[in-house]
Amino acid sequence: MTQHSNIIAANAADQRYDEHLLIYTHELEEQHQALSEAKEQAEKANKAKSEFLANMSHEIRTPLNGIIGIASLLRDTQLTHEQKNWVDIIRKSSDVLLGVVNDILDVSKIEVGQLVLESEPFNLVTVIMDATDSFAHLAKEKGLAVYVEQGELSPLYLGDVMRIRQILLNMLGNAFKFTHQGYISLRIREEKFTKNMARICFELEDTGIGIPANKCEQIFDKFTQANESITRQYGGTGLGLSICKSLIELMGGSIQVESALNSGSCFTFDIHLRCVEQDVQAIIPPVLPPAQFNNKRALVVDDIEVNLILLKAILNKNGFDIVVAHNGMEACEITKAQSFDIIFMDCHMPLMDGYVAAAQIRKHLAKSESRYTPIVALTADAMKDNRDRCHNAGMDDFLTKPITKEQLLASLGKWLGVPCAE
Ligand code: ADP
Repeated sequence: MTQHSNIIAANAADQRYDEHLLIYTHELEEQHQALSEAKEQAEKANKAKSEFLANMSHEIRTPLNGIIGIASLLRDTQLTHEQKNWVDIIRKSSDVLLGVVNDILDVSKIEVGQLVLESEPFNLVTVIMDATDSFAHLAKEKGLAVYVEQGELSPLYLGDVMRIRQILLNMLGNAFKFTHQGYISLRIREEKFTKNMARICFELEDTGIGIPANKCEQIFDKFTQANESITRQYGGTGLGLSICKSLIELMGGSIQVESALNSGSCFTFDIHLRCVEQDVQAIIPPVLPPAQFNNKRALVVDDIEVNLILLKAILNKNGFDIVVAHNGMEACEITKAQSFDIIFMDCHMPLMDGYVAAAQIRKHLAKSESRYTPIVALTADAMKDNRDRCHNAGMDDFLTKPITKEQLLASLGKWLGVPCAE
């Protein structure tokens, strides 16, 4: 072979190589395209599922609002002992149902990245004590010893106290649910990692049924329980731990468990919080005395009769004069003719919804009003973008259904000033 024919052969090989490379690159591009299309489809489907879950929980919360609210009104009336027990069963069952709906809503919020943490000063010791106290009756009933051991903690931290309470209640709830004898022990300590930032470490140990070693990781997944008999025996949805895990991770920490079947469990988790070096009393608002708002006028706008009955009953009891509107259009007309100290506005209504109505009322009031009228949204949709939508429409506050008497009174106190005690 001459040198010349060698070069020709090499060129031909190069050409074949280039052709292959071209085909290969083209195939890769096609695969990449197909993968990103599939990813997009999966993301769309996931978003649709989360929206569906959020809508479903919205639909379920609305009638639950009625059941829980009216049951507590009924509890305050003259009832026989037996009737009181029945009303308590309605309350307890609806609270369980509400817990499930709230868990589903939390999971869908987490999935679409809509779970946003609040930041407010709070006293962790109070939160821990309140959480453990709420299981005192159960501990007594089951004959369990409860130990709480806490190291030195800052007087105040900045964080989402409601979510921290939710984590503690959930973890303690599981410990009490799955333990039939022995003890439950909660240890808490603070590790400062900068002057103002602390890692709070929790260790929750029980002497309960334990978890098979090969399930210790899976129980943190959604809808997962240690085994099938758990649902039959203990109920539950398998959502609690997955929500706790997400919340803990959002707070910069992690959670793990050490356990084996029939040998109890020890959950350890930590959260990162900012420490506040201030006087507790100066920051945490004092507990208000029972409210009595005499000669105040409220407009309540809702299309669902049971919600109107409920709000009217609570507000009347607290000294309010009430005017009712059944949709946004009626509310707009009424506010043109009469003035109010506060307006409670449902969001989803026929003819004109709460967002449009609030925006129109704000516009109208801005022209004529000598003093500001707060508008409080009442909604079963707890998603963050709904909160933003309410604010954008000119509403000042946001109450999520089912609305409790305490929630409503707290909002009244906030917007109408500290009321005089009766
Ligand atoms: P749920 O309690 O509604 O079933 P969770 O997500 O809170 O859902 O818990 C998932 C599973 O983890 C439980 O079903 C149970 O099998 C197991 N588990 C959680 N905590 C404990 C515990 N303290 N002891 C034994 N098993 C536990």
